[in-house]
Amino acid sequence: MSTSNRRYVFSWDLLGDLIEGRPNLGPTTRLEAYRLMQYTFRDILEQEYGTAKADEIFYRAGLLAGREFCKHVIGRQDDFNGFVRRLQEALHELNIGLLRIEKADLEHGSFVMTVSEDLDCSGLPETGYGVCTYDEGFIAGVMEEYTGRPYDVHETDCWCTGDRTCRFSVNLRSC
Ligand SMILES: [Zn+2]
Repeated sequence: MSTSNRRYVFSWDLLGDLIEGRPNLGPTTRLEAYRLMQYTFRDILEQEYGTAKADEIFYRAGLLAGREFCKHVIGRQDDFNGFVRRLQEALHELNIGLLRIEKADLEHGSFVMTVSEDLDCSGLPETGYGVCTYDEGFIAGVMEEYTGRPYDVHETDCWCTGDRTCRFSVNLRSC
């Protein structure tokens, strides 16, 4: 669909003016509201399009969010350490999660990152499979926006696989 025919092209402005819009309630809500939206969306997307397509849509939405988040929240950073520090601070300030870098191989574009107390899965029942598809896309989007190169991100451990943190393998896509 061409952009001119679309109603829902994302823009950062859609996050709105929360000071004007919510003078009494402020910018925060309960995490149950976020999860209610996410898991009902996933249910309907899976019913409509199947599991693989629903996951792909979540990944792509996360990718878009990561790119926009990097542009609007992280901004330009001179070096990778500054970028990681700012990203950790921002994710903590917004109560999104606690990011750690377990491995960073800048030369080969290969990283292992963990996010604890995340929005998507912390405290969920164990299912035996990771559910943080949106976060995979989000991390890929942040990395792509910062480096200007494509990344593939895969969650290897999740609260839902019995771990207490989500662990992501982050790799520069080989062309
Ligand atoms: Zn997870």
